[in-house]
Formats: sequence, structure tokens, C-alpha cells
Amino acid sequence: MYDVIIVGAGPAGLTSGIYARRANKKVLVLEANTYGGQIINTKSIENYPVNPGISGFDFATKLYNQAKDLGTEIKFEKVTDITENEVITTKETYKTKTIIIATGSDNRKLNLENEEQLTGKGISYCATCDGAFYKDKIVAVIGGGNTALEDAIYLSDIAKTVYLIHRRDTFKAEAILVGQLKQKENIKIVLNTTITKINGDNKLESINLLTNNETTKLNIDGLFIAVGQVPETENFKKLINTNEQGYIIAEEDCKTNIKNIFVAGDTRTKNLRQLVTATSDGAIAATEAIKYLSEIKE
Ligand code: NAP
Repeated sequence: MYDVIIVGAGPAGLTSGIYARRANKKVLVLEANTYGGQIINTKSIENYPVNPGISGFDFATKLYNQAKDLGTEIKFEKVTDITENEVITTKETYKTKTIIIATGSDNRKLNLENEEQLTGKGISYCATCDGAFYKDKIVAVIGGGNTALEDAIYLSDIAKTVYLIHRRDTFKAEAILVGQLKQKENIKIVLNTTITKINGDNKLESINLLTNNETTKLNIDGLFIAVGQVPETENFKKLINTNEQGYIIAEEDCKTNIKNIFVAGDTRTKNLRQLVTATSDGAIAATEAIKYLSEIKE
């Protein structure tokens, strides 16, 4: 029987692991993919206190090692279901007194025909993973948030031309990124425009764009889709309350509708989804779990 099982080894989950281990609890972290979550794809972290410029991979590796060195057990198994005192993976069922859900989010899709078929054949959701394939080529980035702008800026140092295509005339991204974007000569900003079609059989060839009711075709080699995230909460909805977008409903105390189950990081209903708020949630969720454990002992 574990004291705490944490689902997800991203910044929120691993921080929960650190806090729970420092309270001497028996802790297991379960992760379906690799440790680190979304931050692992960030080339350079500029807005987390103390160490500007650290790569997402280095940050995640340090955090993983910190959690492990403190005695956190970490297993790479996909969680498929939970009950109030069990976490079920594709391999095993684990018993636990508390659960922290820190599963983060996955890339939102455009849901256009051909999108899935051409993923990996010209379409990508990760500029730092796939950007190098587009040296001196023509690429487009879709979106107007921090990810889209960071991707466009990153790709502008590799590709010949980067089209940044956004459906509005204002960006959701931080002003500092908008300023950097505008300084890049090989980034062409296309506003008030939506992508309506992806063309290509076995390889991406072009996209159709709609601006003011007029359709144009743009020939490109690569398409980077950065239109936000969707929370990975499907496996918990039977038991845990979520909002319309699928985020687990909890206030700043990270408490869900079930008294021994907590939520941390991007999967929680909140206003600001950043690395710093993910690690903060990790600490709070673990602290609440520890408090719950001390209460049930009495
Ligand atoms: P986001 O902030 O939700 O932005 C998504 C963008 O995609 C928005 O501009 C949105 O347009 C657009 N969009 C959504 N659906 C679309 C569709 N179907 N077609 C076309 N455009 C669509 O997502 P994100 O940029 O991935 O960021 C996610 C979270 O991570 C945010 O909280 C962000 O602050 C954080 N993040 C932070 C950093 C950093 O701190 N450096 C870096 C990356 C991400 P509208 O503007 O019209 O809604």
C-alpha cells in the first residue's frame, strides 16, 4: 500500500514526489511516456526563476533525478483507470491511500482531413523536435499563443521562410515574444486567417487559407500546429469532476471532489498554465495529501 500515487512525471508530478518523500511518505510516480512532460520540448526556459536559459530537457532531468534521489519510486506504465484507493495500469493494480493526478495535457488538433495521415510527413506539433528537418525550407506555424510564437522564432533560425498564421489580429502570447517575432525578417505574419485544408497524398504539399472570405493556397514543406492543449483527463472522468473543457475542477488547494484525490498542474482549472504554477501545484497537492494522511491516522 502506497501513501501517495502520483499519475504523471511532469514538473507538477515530480515536484509532488519531492514534497511527499521529504515528508517520508511511500510514493510511487506512474508515467505513460517519458519524464518531464511538455517542458522537455522547450529549447530554452526564460521565465522560471533563477536559471534563465536552461533547456527543458536539462530542467526535467534534474527534477527527475532530484525526485529519484529522495527515494521516489518511478515506473513507466500507462494508467487506465482509478478508484478511490487503487490506480490501475496496463500492467498492474496498485493500492494507495491518496492519489495526485498530474497528467498534464496533449496537443490540440485542428481536426482537418489529412492532419493525422500527414503527421510525421510534413506535419508536426513540436518545433524543437522536428525543426531540423526543415533547413532552408518553407514552413508555416498555426496559432497565436506562446507556443506558436516561440516555435516561429525558433524555426526562423533554421528555415528559409516561416509563415506565422493566426486567426485573429492580436496575439495571446507574451508581449516580449511578439516583439521578438516582429524583428525576424524571414517570419511573415499572416493575421485574420484560418487554415481550411491540408493538401498532399503521402507528404504535405500545401495548405488552403481563408482570409476575408477569400481562399488562397500556400505551398509549404512543413506545418507546425500550435493551437493549444487539451487536458489528459479521460481516464478519471468517471470519478472526478471536470469542467466543459475537460479540466479537473479544483481551487488553489488542489482538492478534487474526492477527499483523498488531488490534482496538480495543467490538468487543473486555473488561469495561468506555466512551469512555475505547475511546480507550485505539485507542492500544494502533496502538502494537502500529507495533511489528509495525518488526519486519517488519528
Ligand atoms: P494557448 O495559449 O491556448 O494558445 C493557443 C492559440 O491557438 C491561440 O492563439 C488560439 O487562438 C489558437 N487556436 C486555438 N484553436 C485554434 C484553431 N482550431 N485554429 C486556429 N487557431 C487556434 O496555447 P499554447 O500557446 O500552446 O500555450 C499553452 C499554455 O502553455 C499557455 O498557458 C501558455 O502561456 C503556456 N506556455 C508558456 C510558455 C512560456 O511561458 N514561455 C511557452 C509555451 C506555452 P485565439 O487567440 O483566437 O484563441
